[in-house]
Amino acid sequence: MFGSILSGGVLRKALDRGLIEIKVHNLRDFAESKHKQVDDRPFGGGRGMVLKPEPIFRAVEKINRGEKIPVYLLSPQGRRFDDRLAKELARLSRVILVCGRYEGVDERVIESLADDEISIGDYVLTGGEPAAWVIVDAVSRFIPQVVGKADSVRQDSFFRGIFDHPHYTRPRNFRGLKVPEILFSGDHKRIEEWRARKALEKTWMKRPDLIDRKKLSPEDKKRFEEIKKERKQK
Ligand code: SAH
Repeated sequence: MFGSILSGGVLRKALDRGLIEIKVHNLRDFAESKHKQVDDRPFGGGRGMVLKPEPIFRAVEKINRGEKIPVYLLSPQGRRFDDRLAKELARLSRVILVCGRYEGVDERVIESLADDEISIGDYVLTGGEPAAWVIVDAVSRFIPQVVGKADSVRQDSFFRGIFDHPHYTRPRNFRGLKVPEILFSGDHKRIEEWRARKALEKTWMKRPDLIDRKKLSPEDKKRFEEIKKERKQK
């Protein structure tokens, strides 16, 4: 399931350059029975299968080798994954992500092995793998040099608490749809000011809650007041 994440794109380059390291472990390799069984029926009856505790404990203990590496269980019941948590995880030198399947994992994994549970959103996936992929991708962007220009991460949505500004490229006129004139002005100061305003405006239109949460700089406050006034006039 991790083939495609490792086969191309920015992460592949980061792996080749030794900036990040990803190791995928198969729980079956840590199963005790000769049938390599990793799941079993739930005690108390009911639907589905549950991942057994032993293979998960054994896998984590082997990877840890006595060192204490933070263990995160992917779960819809976990702390919601966002930009802040991505930055937090990027500061750690190693993390272990445990992917569940079926009805989930034996509760003792949550009680005694995992340091925390992480959810990528309020919906239920069939397995933790796509969630692990999302986390690996978003966290890797905060590892220095993984993304081309350090600047581009800083400009991206959420980094400053608001969205990125709009982007345009060639052609100048696409089916009558034109690129804003200011971007051809060559006046970098005015372009920066336009971008800063657009970023604020887009965030306000799409996610006003982000603006409410952010402590706006005096410049942004002024811009924001102007945007509100302009909108009212329209
Ligand atoms: N019965 C469980 C859901 C199990 S889904 C419940 O209702 O809480 C199977 C596995 O998919 C989970 O163990 C978890 O590892 C993964 N998963 C499902 N939804 C997820 C989400 N939103 N975020 C992260 N992992 C998720």
